[in-house]
Amino acid sequence: MPDLCDHLRDATPHAPSTEGCEECLKTGGRWVHLRECLTCGHVGCCDSSPNTHATKHYHATKHPVMRSAQPGEDWRWCYVDEVMA
Ligand SMILES: [Zn+2]
Ligand SMILES: [Zn+2]
Ligand SMILES: [Zn+2]
Repeated sequence: MPDLCDHLRDATPHAPSTEGCEECLKTGGRWVHLRECLTCGHVGCCDSSPNTHATKHYHATKHPVMRSAQPGEDWRWCYVDEVMA
């Protein structure tokens, strides 16, 4: 796949650190879909969720790659290069 960036090539899945969005679990928030950071295993909610914690996690940490944590979904996204794999 020639379009993959280095971030996506280097990313390896972690065991998710929490069963749901880490911040939403703390604050009692609700999420639509879950996204898992492939740098640290942080679980955050997607951009369709009210709090968009996965994107906030990227802005806070600069961890570039996340993947879908939804059952049946298997894709990754690099925030830096805006490439999906
Ligand atoms: Zn990248
Ligand atoms: Zn959240
Ligand atoms: Zn992270």
